[in-house]
Amino acid sequence: MKCPLCGSEMLHGYLNVPTAIWSERKHVLTTVPNDSEKYAMHIGQAVVKALNHVESDCCPNCKHILIDIQDCENDFGNTH
Ligand SMILES: [Zn+2]
Repeated sequence: MKCPLCGSEMLHGYLNVPTAIWSERKHVLTTVPNDSEKYAMHIGQAVVKALNHVESDCCPNCKHILIDIQDCENDFGNTH
């Protein structure tokens, strides 16, 4: 796909992470969201010692990664 920012062809790949959270606040010790926070993407531990693989596209030109979070746990409600 083309990068929405600069139009270059993006590389398709995977964000390889044990756990992750995209939140409006910084987390220090854990990636578990609390009740009052807005978070767009929460990825919990898959299986013991296994990594999660989040499909995403990376722009080699402007160095941005685009992640589709439709299937990720979030607190925005179910939109699809
Ligand atoms: Zn780009």
